[in-house]
Amino acid sequence: MLILECPCCGVKAEETELAPGGEAHLKRFGPGSSDADFDSYMFARANPKGVHFERWRHANGCGKWFLAARCTATLEVFGTYPAQTTEPPAELQAYIKSRRPEWEGYK
Ligand SMILES: [Zn+2]
Repeated sequence: MLILECPCCGVKAEETELAPGGEAHLKRFGPGSSDADFDSYMFARANPKGVHFERWRHANGCGKWFLAARCTATLEVFGTYPAQTTEPPAELQAYIKSRRPEWEGYK
């Protein structure tokens, strides 16, 4: 079972308490952007086997959004962090690199 620690309230929440929100750190494109950029923002999502950054909401808890880094192949959770970040924290990226040396890093 997937268990994520909510960085907002500190609860270790089971999967049934959480609602998935898709890929984290999407770059948004709106009016005035090229069709290709808008198309990729709307429809293209990463689906890696391995390290992935995701949005989750503590739906049956504090109700707040947060971000999580985990391995999609093993379900290992590397960490969670507040949603108000533009990229994964450096210390989390260093931890992921220590656990997955083959990981190419956050792009
Ligand atoms: Zn919470």
